[in-house]
Amino acid sequence: MNHEERAALIGQIFVCARCGFCCHGETTVSLNEDDQRRMRDFFCLTTAEMREDYWRVTGRETQMRIKDGHCIFYRDGCRAHAARPWRCAQWPLHPAILLDETNFTAIAASCPGIRKNIGYERFRAILVVILDDSPAVSC
Ligand code: SF4
Ligand code: SF4
Repeated sequence: MNHEERAALIGQIFVCARCGFCCHGETTVSLNEDDQRRMRDFFCLTTAEMREDYWRVTGRETQMRIKDGHCIFYRDGCRAHAARPWRCAQWPLHPAILLDETNFTAIAASCPGIRKNIGYERFRAILVVILDDSPAVSC
């Protein structure tokens, strides 16, 4: 599937409303080694500098810091979009949606970009194809 085909398929089930809801709250996602490397490269900073300015390290967990109730990178959109963590890139097309409709309902309730009107079975069928092609990057 090429980029345009994938984008068109995603557009059938999800169009980001850029509401910022998924970037708000008192926690963010955990960053794996690839996420950290991508962010360091993107901001041209060292690990120590990222920790100083942007990351919160708790034991073995590294996350983005929270500032004013949202991820530190959020300001009318994601300031780290090209280097955002894989979990952010995947959202809201989470594989848990494939497991049962309850997960679909819960995710759809928190993300206005999900096209609920097409119904769970149709949504699921399209998501299977998208995740089979590549499990990451929803938009
Ligand atoms: S992914 Fe969903 S919750 Fe996040 S900004 Fe887009 S529409 Fe809002
Ligand atoms: S990294 Fe970007 S997409 Fe992820 S929570 Fe922060 S602002 Fe939102």
